Amino acid sequence: MYIGIQEDRQSETTGTGGASGYLTIDLAALARNYEKLAAEVAPARAAAVVKADAYGLGADRVAPRLYAQGCRHFFVAQFGESLSLRPLLAADASVFVLNGLQPGNELACARSGMVPVINSLDHWRQWASAARTLGRTLPAVLQFDTGMSRLGVPAEDRATLADLVKAESRIEVLFIMSHLACADDADNDQNSDQRAEMDRIAAEFPEFPVCFANSGGIFLGNAYHGALCRPGIALYGGAPTEGRANPMEPVVRLDVAVVQTRSVPAGTRVGYGASHVTTGQTRLATIAAGYADGLPRSLSSRGAVYCDGIRLPVVGRVSMDSITIDISVLPEGRLKLGSLVEVLGPHQTLEDVARDAGTISYEILTSLGQRYERQYR
Ligand SMILES: *Cc1c(COP(=O)(O)O)cnc(C)c1O
Repeated sequence: MYIGIQEDRQSETTGTGGASGYLTIDLAALARNYEKLAAEVAPARAAAVVKADAYGLGADRVAPRLYAQGCRHFFVAQFGESLSLRPLLAADASVFVLNGLQPGNELACARSGMVPVINSLDHWRQWASAARTLGRTLPAVLQFDTGMSRLGVPAEDRATLADLVKAESRIEVLFIMSHLACADDADNDQNSDQRAEMDRIAAEFPEFPVCFANSGGIFLGNAYHGALCRPGIALYGGAPTEGRANPMEPVVRLDVAVVQTRSVPAGTRVGYGASHVTTGQTRLATIAAGYADGLPRSLSSRGAVYCDGIRLPVVGRVSMDSITIDISVLPEGRLKLGSLVEVLGPHQTLEDVARDAGTISYEILTSLGQRYERQYR
């Protein structure tokens, strides 16, 4: 099916569709990835992390599809994201906000029905005050720092928080959580250190279920699963563990159109800064996507796109709206105005592009932007 999409595309001639690029998001593959993760963590439940517009893929399409697949726990990073997500989901779904509260937004948060992740004593007090003002019980997740030093209640505040939790009847704690810093590296000792700390916290707050593992954490084994896992990247087809075969199905495919081709002699300078100079007669194509479309400038003279499974290297600098590739290895006339080349697909994974760009799959996905024509399948 994945290949089928490419064949459709590449048989298209100039003008069909006419977009500069096509971002194809396979919602059936997304659903199968959810199923796979849910089976992996059972009897724990699998949530879905849909922050940053579902890692750039469109939370408005992704979240309802995952709901249909049985997902009932959705995590975003910010309150604003929860506001757009909430109306797309039925009342039995929960929307959690990882960054918690900002000073002054607690009443709006409470009224919206979102569940904040309480990361500090300040967050707790703010949420308790909103509960008092509104005269009702409010739900919350308590996050603890177990070694990442990013978000969550630090060890020295745990006893104080435990006292506050005992004294407060108006906050209903749904989960206690923490986040792994090195879960994509299965051999890293920090994973078991953080798990040991999370086990101690669970013993201090025995009445609350545990929410711990992200995508990588899920594949560290049962001991990391708790009651609820929080996969993000694995849902979208990214590899959960570095250096291991990716068990997930690709969800995203990106094809970009050729806007111009040319044949140039040896010694021709290509692109901004003239950073590339041809060494022989060369055929070039310029494609209609650049760093404004999430193909980082660090791909300049690195990385490639594919046509008929053949690698076509990027030559010279990546521009804002275009990239020039060397197409000399292709038969003449194979690529012309409007032809599509594969940027992400069966020959080039997200991880391939991320590696060439010196970044991670997450950054590639969340940067893809709004200029491609999006097709959901
Ligand atoms: C982003 C995030 C996740 C999802 O992580 P993946 O590695 O994409 O699975 C889970 N938990 C927290 C706290 C996060 O910030």
